[in-house]
Order: sequence, then structure tokens, then C-alpha cells
Amino acid sequence: MISVEEALEKVLSYVEVLEPEQKPILDCLGQVLAEDVYSTIDIPPLDNSAMDGYALRAKDTRGAGESSPRYLVVVGEVAAGSMPAQEVRPGTAIRIMTGAPLPEGADAVVRFEDTDEGNRKSSGGDLSQIGILCQASKGLNVRDRGEDIASGDLILKKGKVLRPQEIGVLASLGRPTVLVIRRPIVAILATGDELIGVDQPLAPGKIHDSNNYAIAAEVSRYGGIPKILGIGRDSVRSLTEKIDEGLDADMLITSGGVSKGDYDIVKDVLAEHGEVGFWTVCMKPGKPLAFGIMKKMEGRRERKVPHLGLPGNPVSSMVTFEQFARPAILRMMGKKILAKPAIRAIIEDDVVDTDGRRLFARVSVTKRGGQYYASVTGPQGSGILTSMAKANGLAVIPENSKGVKAGDLVEVQMLDWGEEQGEVKTLPIVSIVGKSQSGKTVLMEQLIAEFKRRGYKVAALKHSRGGMEIDRPGKDSWRFTQAGSDAVLVSSPDKLAFIKNLNHDLSIEEIMPIVGLEFDLVLAEGFRKSKIPKIEVHKKGLGDDLLCSPDELSAIVTDGSLDTDITQLTWGDTVAVADFIEKNFVLNSQSNAFLPPMKEEG
Ligand code: AMP
Ligand code: MG
Repeated sequence: MISVEEALEKVLSYVEVLEPEQKPILDCLGQVLAEDVYSTIDIPPLDNSAMDGYALRAKDTRGAGESSPRYLVVVGEVAAGSMPAQEVRPGTAIRIMTGAPLPEGADAVVRFEDTDEGNRKSSGGDLSQIGILCQASKGLNVRDRGEDIASGDLILKKGKVLRPQEIGVLASLGRPTVLVIRRPIVAILATGDELIGVDQPLAPGKIHDSNNYAIAAEVSRYGGIPKILGIGRDSVRSLTEKIDEGLDADMLITSGGVSKGDYDIVKDVLAEHGEVGFWTVCMKPGKPLAFGIMKKMEGRRERKVPHLGLPGNPVSSMVTFEQFARPAILRMMGKKILAKPAIRAIIEDDVVDTDGRRLFARVSVTKRGGQYYASVTGPQGSGILTSMAKANGLAVIPENSKGVKAGDLVEVQMLDWGEEQGEVKTLPIVSIVGKSQSGKTVLMEQLIAEFKRRGYKVAALKHSRGGMEIDRPGKDSWRFTQAGSDAVLVSSPDKLAFIKNLNHDLSIEEIMPIVGLEFDLVLAEGFRKSKIPKIEVHKKGLGDDLLCSPDELSAIVTDGSLDTDITQLTWGDTVAVADFIEKNFVLNSQSNAFLPPMKEEG
């Protein structure tokens, strides 16, 4: 039996990034850019107006206000798409629309709402003059030439996965086509004498083929081009015929025929075409898996087509597709991120896993109060395809774990999240709580030093009930605060302090976006009421009780031993505490991480 990781590594060792092709930009969504894209133009190409209003000279509005209009002579009008016919001289203005080029001489635009145009119009007044009701500064409502993109700049780098926004940028650069890694063509073949097509009426002993459809849809979702070969019968002749058709593709995916009884036929047919191996992967569902390389002569060149033989059970074939075929397709497309984004969730049901294989349980994930929960989607038989339809995640129950209990934390692969989501930078945070005199601050010091030793960029966050040292009366920062500044920044050659005035005690959720994402880990002290992961320091001498209720804690660090189920770490063994934090909150940080701003998943 081989592990899921070993199987994936083998599959990936046989697939290569495909060659690039030049394509219309609209066909490139989700594909990987195969060229560096530079701009040959400025965007916007000219200074232009960001508002509908009047282009004028800021100087001419000096002293203007609601009750002291400055009157200017309107010398013309310019719409988006045309060039101004006049220039703005002192004492004049030109009526201008959003996007229209700024006339010569003008350096600001005052929007209609800040003029008396409305009044003039409703009273049938004279529009050859305009009253300006506000003082404009130079550059007001003006978009500068090249403020978005400057000619010569590198705009999109090779390797970028094209999303709608990049397609838009390419269009704005005037690029109708672009070079991208081509999409793989994936041939798909269902096997089995019991299968009939979706458009056929059921007959005794027959079932509709669903695998071809589910797999073809998966291939499309991940950017490949599915080519359904149809249904192969459980005979050498039928399979040979179908597989020959699949040799033009970049990859062949078959389903069924790999379980013990059937496998001989598939094996014989595939052995004719190349090499085939039969693996028992340590996973459930989906234990039997065939993998091979088929060879085809193209002129004098031999072409190798990887073949993945998925199990026939509909759930097994989808789960094995996710683990092995999906990364192979992404690799062929030139993508770098192959892992499904995973979160840590609290499982809401007991899941038994006694046969020592890694179990992929179909779950429905919800987010409540900042925490993910995963509930199993009913009966988990590998033929029950609706368990997949109800699921938005696969909970990964480790091999040799005997399963998990409701309330345990599990890793969940999010089926509907894009791989690129893994790129989102998140900021793990853990808080050290404990009674006063328990040694919180000492543990903080030790952990900070330990994580620095491990090469982390660490921020420490301390809640200080009684004011702040750097903001002491008499100091300049204090005086600026007294004078009413909303925030004071104190910088020196080696430090920066940011002092912000508050009207309430901030929660961690409010503080994190201010911290920003430049750190690898935030270690907080206190904040025991918040929902972030917490580790309590317990000191024997202060009694057996804890400050927090055990179900809110991730672990306890103690100099004694407590009668509880939570992980207990030994006071003084900082390496073990750091290992615990690293393993549970840093390396797998999506679930407790703060993204500024926090996003809620449905
Ligand atoms: P096999 O791996 O060929 O022994 O198939 C295992 C189970 O999956 C059997 O119950 C098959 O009927 C079922 N199965 C195989 N292929 C398909 C398919 N394309 N669509 C739906 N069920 C299938
Ligand atoms: Mg079969």
C-alpha cells in the first residue's frame, strides 16, 4: 500500500507543463500567462476629468463658497471621446464630462453639484456663465496621464493566472491576444457492461453512466478540455478500440475496471499500449487505482500519454480525481499551486475509521461566529453520489487515527474554493492567557525568542489596562494626542510606534487589520474573551482551576498536571509549546487567520 502523497508524487512525475499558444484574451480565463506583458502606452493616455463638471483654473476659485460664488464665463463643452476645441483662460471654464480630456489651461474640475448650474437650469437662466460654489485645489477631480499604467512598465508577469481583472488590463493595453500555456485535452472513458448512456431508458441490471459526466465537469472546472470517449465494455476488443481514440489526448482518465475482478482486462489492454501499474493507495474511498503511461508513435516521435485509472464507484472516482487528476491537470496548465485550499474545522459528528486508511469524509462546512464547522453529509457509501452533491468539503481523517470524535479539529479540503485562494496571505494569531502571576509574560518572552530562532517575523500584542508608557504626560506624543490628533506616529531610526486614539477597548478582530500582514505570527497576551486560539498558563501554586473554560482552550502549559482532556504541555519546555503552535496554527493557518477585512463564507 502506498500513501496518498507517494501516489501523487508518482502521478506528477509523469506530467509536464504543456507548450504555450497565442489566443484571444477572452478565451484565456484561468490560464497561465506565458509571456511578460509590458505596456506600450500610458493609461489614461491624457489628463482627464474624473467627474461631470466644469474644467477651470483652481486659482480662479479662490474664496468661492456657497454664499460667495465666483462667476466664470463658459467658453465651451467637451464630452468623453472628443478633444477640447478651446483652452481655459483666466476667468473662464469649460463644461466637461467624465473621461473627457482636460482642456489646455485648466488644472481642476468642479463637479456640477458644486456650481449653480442646477439653479440656472430650473430658472431658465443664462448658461453662458457659471457660478462656482467651492474653492478648488489644483488637481481636484483630475486623473493624471499614466496614473494607472505608464508606457514601458512590466504590467503582468509570466506565470500569472489570468482572472477577469487581468483580462480587463490586457484589453486596456490594446492586446487582443496573449501567450498562455495551452489547456490539456483529457480523454475520459467509463468502463462496465452495466452502463448505459444518460439518454437511454433503464433496462434490468443496467445503470446510467454518471462518472463520464462528473469527471468531464471536473476537467472543465480545472481548465482542461474534456473529450468523452464513451463507454467501454468489459472486453479486450471494446477497451482497445476506445483507448486508441484517447491516445491523441494529453491524458486519459478511465473509471471502473480496476477492482480485483475486472482489473485483468484493463491491465491486458493497457499493457499493449505501454506500461501500467496497479496501486493500492492508503485512502478511503478509492483504494484501487491504476496508473500507466501509454505510448503512441507520432511520425517518428514517440508520444507519452499518462493514464489514470480511477475506481468505478462514483464517489471514489470523484475523490481520487480530486487528489490525483486535478493536480496533474493544473501542473500541465503551468499552475504552481496544486493543493486544494484547506481549513481547520470542528467536526460535528463522530467519524469511525478503523482500517488504518486516510478517510476523505464528505462534509458540509459552515462558518459560525468566526469558526468553521463540518458536518458529515449522511451515509458515506462510495456509491452514494448524493453525499458528494451535498458536500462542499472533504474532511481528511488521518490514517491510523481510529477516527475522530464530534468536537475534534479536522482538516477540510474545500471543494469549491479555487487553488489560488491558497495564495491569500493570512496572519496566524495565538493568545497566551492565565491568572495573574501565572507566568504569561515569561512564556511570551520565551516563545518570541523561540520563534525568532526559527526564522519567524513575530509581532507581540499586549493589552495594557492602565495607559501606555510611550504616551506619558508631557511627552511630545502625548501633547499631540491632547491637541486632538486622531493618531500619532512616533518614528526613530530603529522603531515605529503608532498611537491611535480610541473610544472603546478594541477587540482582536479590530486590531488585526491595523497590524497588517507583514508578520508570520502574532503572539498576544490576554484577550481571554476573544475567539482566537488560546493557550492557558497554569501554575500549580495558584490552584487547580483554570481562568478559561477548557473547551475554549487549545492547550494548557502547566508545571503540574490537570485532570482534563486538553493537550497539556510542560512549563519550561518552550520548544514543545512552539511546536504545538507551529503545527496547529501557523503551518495550517487558514482557519484561525485574520484577513483584513475578515470574510465570511456561506
Ligand atoms: P468497478 O470499479 O468497475 O468494479 O465498479 C465499481 C462500482 O461502480 C460498480 O457498482 C459499478 O456499477 C459502478 N460504476 C462503475 N462505473 C460507473 C459509471 N461510469 N457510472 C456509474 N457507476 C459506475
Ligand atoms: Mg466495472
